Amino acid sequence: MAAPFPDFEPARSMIIILDETVTEEQIKHVASKVEQLGLQTSISRGTYRTVIGVIGDETKLQSAPLAAIPGVAEVLPVMPAYKLASKQAHPKPTIIEVGPVKIGGGHMAMIAGPCAVESEERMESIAKSVRAAGANIFRGGAFKPRTSPYSFQGLGEDGLKILRDVGARHGMPVVTEVVDPRNVELVCEYADMLQLGARNMQNFVLLTEVGRTNKPVLLKRGMSATVADFLMSAEYIMAQGNSNVVLCERGVKGFDPATRNTFDVALVPQIHKLSHLPIIVDPSHATGRPDLIPACALAGVAAGADGVHIEVHDKPEEAMSDGPQALLPKQYAELMDQIRKVGAAVGKQIG
Ligand code: PEP
Ligand code: MN
Repeated sequence: MAAPFPDFEPARSMIIILDETVTEEQIKHVASKVEQLGLQTSISRGTYRTVIGVIGDETKLQSAPLAAIPGVAEVLPVMPAYKLASKQAHPKPTIIEVGPVKIGGGHMAMIAGPCAVESEERMESIAKSVRAAGANIFRGGAFKPRTSPYSFQGLGEDGLKILRDVGARHGMPVVTEVVDPRNVELVCEYADMLQLGARNMQNFVLLTEVGRTNKPVLLKRGMSATVADFLMSAEYIMAQGNSNVVLCERGVKGFDPATRNTFDVALVPQIHKLSHLPIIVDPSHATGRPDLIPACALAGVAAGADGVHIEVHDKPEEAMSDGPQALLPKQYAELMDQIRKVGAAVGKQIG
């Protein structure tokens, strides 16, 4: 496995919290168990609790059931389980490059396009308008993960060709979803960035396969994924050697059918606190409502998002998927003007 960061060192320690009633003999026993594994210990005795700090490669402890030793109350890793994705591994924000577009560290990705790749003519007119508005990455799904098997599933390889050609004609790299590990190689031939959708956030075979490529990945948050689940999925990709991961908040399942999902804007500053990876927002899938998308997009940027992902269609009533949530090109252009202003206020520019 290639080391994704030259300055990354494996986690170094763990803390063992002992029971309030632990005896001196038990403390010695726990320490000797740890030392037998080739690790060092440092014992600190507080008024109520004694804790043992473990110094050394924590991976040696993974198969040792320390919590089962009498006198041990809790075993806490000091490093999070998502090591490569964590801020500890790489304190500065990572900047991901998709063709000439930079994402992260003050640069914003403006990803726009229809939900699904449609005819070449339709893609041309949408690409032209979003490019003129300032979008820098063109999107469209050629393989669609639809809730119903009877819904339009995408144009497949023909769609990939259209997306690539139209993107190239308008000077935009392209992002498209890969839903099947067997298609990763095919999608890599056409796409500049691979999208891993909400429904596949924990498809570990697909994450691993995508991690073996060198393509930037747009990883969308699963509909009920916690922050830790999300970062662990990024870790799957990174553990294979691909550290070009951009996260995307696209709403989580809520209780209120008034919106398609619930937009979790707090995820943006949380990710920035825990991880060096860029995070963008997708208010289209988060709300499913064109009347709410602009405000949520701006809220995401104000919260520090490294980009905005929006579905745009010039004939939403004829769209093959997600038509009702598409912004019209004119609405998108107006929103882009506002995004530039809010971005400038928080020190970000369109990358
Ligand atoms: C999409 O981007 O069209 C899509 C299917 O998104 P998500 O995986 O977030 O539902
Ligand atoms: Mn969609």
